[in-house]
Amino acid sequence: MSGYAPQTSQTADASAIDIHSRAVSYTCGDCDGDVQLKRGEPIRCRNCGHRVLYKKRTNR
Ligand SMILES: [Zn+2]
Repeated sequence: MSGYAPQTSQTADASAIDIHSRAVSYTCGDCDGDVQLKRGEPIRCRNCGHRVLYKKRTNR
């Protein structure tokens, strides 16, 4: 078996299902603003540019 190197890197195809237009609400850790990000978007606040966001808790 030569000429074929098995790659053990991540296969991003299997997890790409129907997660289109699914926005997740985050709370910025800096300005405490509401940030909605879609799947695949970089974690970043749109108000202040902070990159630490917390997932919103829905049980209140
Ligand atoms: Zn912010």
